Amino acid sequence: MEAEEEQQQWKTNFYSELPKVELHAHLNGSISSNTMKKLIAKKPGLKIHDQMTMIDKGKKRTLEECFQMFQIIHQLTTSPEDILMVTKDVIKEFADDGVKYLELRSTPRKENATGMTKKTYVESVLEGIKQSKHENLDIDVRYLISVDRRGGPSVARETVKLAEEFFLSTEDTVLGLDLSGDPTAGQAKDFLEPLLEAKKSGLKLALHLSEIPNQIKETQVLLDLLPDRIGHGTFLSSEGGSLDLVNFVRKHQIPLELCLTSNIKSQTVPSYDQHHFGFWYSIAHPSVICTDDKGVFATHLSQEYQLAAETFNLTQAQIPRGLLRR
Ligand SMILES: [Zn+2]
Repeated sequence: MEAEEEQQQWKTNFYSELPKVELHAHLNGSISSNTMKKLIAKKPGLKIHDQMTMIDKGKKRTLEECFQMFQIIHQLTTSPEDILMVTKDVIKEFADDGVKYLELRSTPRKENATGMTKKTYVESVLEGIKQSKHENLDIDVRYLISVDRRGGPSVARETVKLAEEFFLSTEDTVLGLDLSGDPTAGQAKDFLEPLLEAKKSGLKLALHLSEIPNQIKETQVLLDLLPDRIGHGTFLSSEGGSLDLVNFVRKHQIPLELCLTSNIKSQTVPSYDQHHFGFWYSIAHPSVICTDDKGVFATHLSQEYQLAAETFNLTQAQIPRGLLRR
């Protein structure tokens, strides 16, 4: 028994000490339960408790319920001070988990009650990144500004303008744009113009796509933009996707950001062994394991690496190479 425990501990240490990159992490979804407690204590009137912001081990929610959880979390992060604290805590936690390069993504949010504007929101994230740098954490952090699909094209245009401003002024901290939010909200074609504009300005594009089945046309519209990376791509390769989509992604070598626990807990993938990581890994397509929302889904990047390795029988030599294929 003792030997078994030792073996488990050795494995946990191995994955946590392995130098990793995290490319798909939503700021508000990455808030740990420790930070959540601090936020809840600041706003006792809201009567929000831990269970409403985190999905425990073995529990599941629908994708729709997951998006509702974000609405609750947003009530707790309403001021520039909240955003600063959350950013610093999240960076520290990723650094403690052996992440050496981190791209955070987040939608700039305006809150009338506190006077937070979209601009001060972005500035607070950047300040958190700057302060973490001064604390000499061994991690390089960048920021992708998110376009929430629910806002529609006019908000998207506004967000692209903001991203362009910060892209020019931050010297490589703001790198690009993320398209995310409820995949059933709006249509891809609504976002084409602002996304093209962003691309022309030199912003990189990381697009959530094919998160739900039967969106072949919608997915092709987004793929035609030749995004720099794909978030999830859950239904590209499975039932409800198509071989044409898979071939397109392969031909253009567009890397995939894959988040196992997120997909299991939000029930878009039925079990770990049926995760599409298996398919893309088997054809040696560039893909990277990410957490999506380490707070909401109660996970860590090291845990996701271990899950992927154990589910798909990767040897230790395959892990750093295999999970970070290029
Ligand atoms: Zn995501």
